[in-house]
Amino acid sequence: MKQGMIDLLAPATVALALLFWANAPPALVDSAWTLPVIGVATMALVQLLELVIPRHDEWRTSWREVATDVFYVVFNMTAVGWAATTLADDPLTAAKTALGIATPGLAALPFLVQVALVVVLVEIGQYAIHRGMHNSALLWSVHAPHHHLTQLNAMKGYVGNPIELFLISLSVIALFDFDTAAILASFNVMGAIAVFSHANLRSNPPGWFAFFFTTIRHHSLHHNALSYEDTRSNYATTLIVIDRLFGTYRDGEAAVVGQGERRRLSIIDQFAFPFRAWSDRMRAGRGTASG
Ligand SMILES: [Zn+2]
Ligand SMILES: [Zn+2]
Repeated sequence: MKQGMIDLLAPATVALALLFWANAPPALVDSAWTLPVIGVATMALVQLLELVIPRHDEWRTSWREVATDVFYVVFNMTAVGWAATTLADDPLTAAKTALGIATPGLAALPFLVQVALVVVLVEIGQYAIHRGMHNSALLWSVHAPHHHLTQLNAMKGYVGNPIELFLISLSVIALFDFDTAAILASFNVMGAIAVFSHANLRSNPPGWFAFFFTTIRHHSLHHNALSYEDTRSNYATTLIVIDRLFGTYRDGEAAVVGQGERRRLSIIDQFAFPFRAWSDRMRAGRGTASG
């Protein structure tokens, strides 16, 4: 494959997703399987491409790593998805009905305008939550496991502590009457960009794409191993233009990633991380008080 074509992988995937959802038959739009099947297929393809055109040899993945990542993909698509629907989206829909909130004009807007609005709405929320996680010790304790990753790969966007995964899955979209296909297209596009911005691929999208959308250069820099302070930029997982607007954008790229002692955390370590951090803080606090 020519480098020029490799560099177009992310923009081409986004374009294909938009084309698909703009023309998808109602049976596919209504099926709960369509989006997860496309998401898994995209990740599998990118993961295979990582074998052929890796960005960094140190990020080459092992079977143990792939097994962990697959666990998280399934965990997100089942448990986290269920929690977000039950604890956030359903109550929001109920509140919308109770309060009589209606935005019927939205579904009449052109398809691409709706997709852009959904992506911007979701991304501004995610940017705020993610930035908050880098600004508060309490929230950092749930986000830190994602930053303990010592390699980046196609599925790594799904890896993290369950509390964090739940928090970043929240959005206000349930309050609006967007067309279902436009909502699914938006989630497809955001998912694909998150896959490419974590992927170990020697693919650098063109400048116009990287101005608006997050790439592996931006996101690897966010994952750098230098210091906690050095991770506090490039928060947007889809729309890097939000970082440009809010002054948190930094140019560059990192090959060495991972906070802490750059020790790989097991799934149990990742799940227990915040509880251990909180008990350590309490113990340290008691130590200071008594000593
Ligand atoms: Zn982060
Ligand atoms: Zn990440």
